[in-house]
Amino acid sequence: MDLVEYQGKQYFARYGLPISPGEVANTVGEAEAAAERLGYPVVVKAQVQVGGRGKAGGIKLASSGAEVAEHAANILGMDIKGHVVRRLWIEKATDIAKEYYASFTLDRSAKLHLAMVSARGGVDIEQVVEEDPDAIARLHVNPLDGVTLEAVRDLVERAGLDLEAREGAAEILLKLYNCYIEGDADLVEINPLVLTTDGEVRVLDAKVTLDDDAAFRHPEWAEIDNLGDSSERERLAKSKGLSYIPLDGSVGIIANGAGLAMSTVDVVSQVGGSAANFLDVGGGADEDGMASALEVINLDPSVRAIFVNIFGGIVRCDEVARGIVSALDKVDIASQIVLRLDGTNVAEARRIIDERASEKIISERTMLSAARRAVELAGTPKSQGGTEL
Ligand code: GDP
Ligand code: MN
Repeated sequence: MDLVEYQGKQYFARYGLPISPGEVANTVGEAEAAAERLGYPVVVKAQVQVGGRGKAGGIKLASSGAEVAEHAANILGMDIKGHVVRRLWIEKATDIAKEYYASFTLDRSAKLHLAMVSARGGVDIEQVVEEDPDAIARLHVNPLDGVTLEAVRDLVERAGLDLEAREGAAEILLKLYNCYIEGDADLVEINPLVLTTDGEVRVLDAKVTLDDDAAFRHPEWAEIDNLGDSSERERLAKSKGLSYIPLDGSVGIIANGAGLAMSTVDVVSQVGGSAANFLDVGGGADEDGMASALEVINLDPSVRAIFVNIFGGIVRCDEVARGIVSALDKVDIASQIVLRLDGTNVAEARRIIDERASEKIISERTMLSAARRAVELAGTPKSQGGTEL
């Protein structure tokens, strides 16, 4: 789960990282009131789960109520790389002397945590990596050992941070590691980490990705709302434990197992269609799982046909068939369903589906013929190719 900046800062603050005072605002009026309380100048900041807000015009300095109102009105509703701004963070402005970069993340290939620090902060770090890879100092951390003050002092020195910023930055890195580990984050990134004109080191932007698999240890995460950034479908899918990714086509897809779901997306495009989503019901292709999956897909207005592709291994096809039938009873499914079932108990499954014969469910024997049928129903017929699968 990705946090927006202010959520990331609140998370950092719990671990003692120095952030500037600020307030959330959902309207122009709230932004003005927050700025009055904080005192000028303030920074008006768009809260969306995407970087590069500054360049896109989503971060503005304001030194009066009128300026706050003007910027807030411009930024609210702004579309930043497909994310609509619904919330602002009004922060007391900082006088910046220098901008740095600091992060912890997991280096999967090294099987270690990785700290990265650079004296070239504030800018897109991917760009720094490309232009000047040596501008980033790295430190691998074995989770069994953790980090020491000596190690992070060495790191900030190697990164070439200004002398007066080094001790403050080293202390921040220790706290950042602690919040990365204790808080179960996959990524904690500060860009920029700043040296103020008063000689303080402070966090000016926060990017935090929490490890969803650790949610059971963090009941407090349930309160993090994602500002309408994710759709009702995505939230429903998540609450039902489904792995769902919206795409922009017209054929809704349900499959069991990530591999089969990906192949299904491919086969649909191979026959000239396009998938409306990726949905892996995983091991949950039982009655409840199927009903939930159909419910989620049914909420997508761009879906014109649904392709259910299940290979019964551990999950039995008859259970899947019962799930579909019960979903049809519970939910008013808007599109026709093309069904390809194979594997354990497929004969019984076909009997259940045939019994419930309706124009809503169409059975096909192979993945390819089912894909063709679904694409045809979705109304995007094109030249066909491929071999029978
Ligand atoms: P991003 O563009 O999404 O990464 O948003 P940031 O929060 O990193 O802000 C972008 C840039 O705005 C920073 O690199 C700073 O240069 C500038 N900025 C942000 N906050 C302040 C502030 O309090 N004072 C000043 N002077 N500049 C700021
Ligand atoms: Mn930033």
